[in-house]
Amino acid sequence: QAELAMYKVKESGRNNISFYDPQMQIEILQRKQMENDLERAVVNDEFILFYQPQVSYNNGVVGAEALLRWFPLEQGIIYPNEFIPQLEETGLIILVGEKVLYDGCKKLQQWANTPEFSQLTLSVNVSSAQLLHEGFSSYVTQLINQFKIKPGKLKLEITESTFIENIDATVAVMNELANVGVQFSLDDFGTGFSSLSYLKSLPLTELKIDKSFIKDLLEDKSDMAISKTIVSLANSLGLDVIAEGVECIEQLQLLHQLGCNNYQGYYYNRASDADEFETFTRNYNKQLLCQVSEDDGGD
Ligand code: C2E
Ligand code: MG
Ligand code: MG
Ligand code: MG
Repeated sequence: QAELAMYKVKESGRNNISFYDPQMQIEILQRKQMENDLERAVVNDEFILFYQPQVSYNNGVVGAEALLRWFPLEQGIIYPNEFIPQLEETGLIILVGEKVLYDGCKKLQQWANTPEFSQLTLSVNVSSAQLLHEGFSSYVTQLINQFKIKPGKLKLEITESTFIENIDATVAVMNELANVGVQFSLDDFGTGFSSLSYLKSLPLTELKIDKSFIKDLLEDKSDMAISKTIVSLANSLGLDVIAEGVECIEQLQLLHQLGCNNYQGYYYNRASDADEFETFTRNYNKQLLCQVSEDDGGD
C-alpha cells in the first residue's frame, strides 16, 4: 500500500500527471471559479466598506473599524474570511487594499467636515503583502494629503503575522508612516506566536485584545488573567487598549474593572453600511450627552 502510494507520488512528479481524484478536481475548479469571481468583483467594484463602532467608556463612539464586505451580483453578502485569503493568494489584495484605504480616507474627510463626526478615527486592516508592497507608505501619505486628513485619525491594524516573517522591512514602513502621524494598532493581540520583544521596535499606538479572550471572559479565569495582563502591558508601554468581540454588558463591565476603557462588539452594533453607522453614532452620542446633562442637573 505504502509502496503504491510512493510510486504514485514519483510518477506524478515525473510526468506531471495526477491520478484522478474527484474531490481534488472539484476543489481545483472551485478555486478557479473563485479567482474569476474575485477578478470580476475587482473590475465591477463589488466590495463595500462596512463600519463597526469603537466606543470609549466615557466618550461614546470615538471611531470605527472598516470591515470589508463583498456583494457579488444579486447573491447576497460574503464575509472577509471567505475571500481575504484568496485575495492574498492571487495578489489582488493590493488593488482591493488600495480601494479600502481610498474609501476609508474619503470617509474620514466627510466625517471631519461634519461637526458631530469630526472627532472619529478610522481603523483599517492591512495585510502583510499590502504593507510590504512597494509604494505602500507613499500611497497612504498621498491619500492623507489628497483628502486633507489629520494623520492621527487613521489607524492601521496589523497582526503579528505581518511582521513575524520580515520584521526589518515592516518596521521601516511602519516608521515612515508613524513619522507622518499615522497610528498603528496590533490586532488579534495574544493569538500569535512571536515574542513580546518586538513590542519595543514597532511604533504601535494600540493593542487590540482578540475576541477569543472575550468570548468566555465571564467564566474563564485564564481569559480574565490574559485580558488583565494585556491591559497592564499596554498601560506600562503607554499604549491604548481596546477589546474586540464585546457582546454583552457583563463583559463590558468586567473589562472596565480590568482597566480596559475601549470596546468594539455586537453589544453596541455589528458592522453596518456607512449610513447605519452614522445614525447609530449620532443617536448613541446624543443619548450620552443627555445622560451627562441630566447628571449635572441632578446635582
Ligand atoms: P478583525 O480585523 O479581527 O475584525 C474583527 C472581526 O470580528 C470582524 O469580522 C467583526 O465583524 C467581528 N466582530 C466584531 N464584533 C464582534 C462580536 O461581538 N462577536 C463576534 N463573534 N465577532 C465580532 P469580519 O468583518 O468578518 O472580518 C474578519 C477578518 O477579515 C478581520 O478580522 C480582518 O482580519 C479581515 N478583514 C476585514 N476587512 C478587511 C480589509 O479591508 N482588509 C484586510 N486585509 N483584512 C480585512
Ligand atoms: Mg481588525
Ligand atoms: Mg481583530
Ligand atoms: Mg480577528
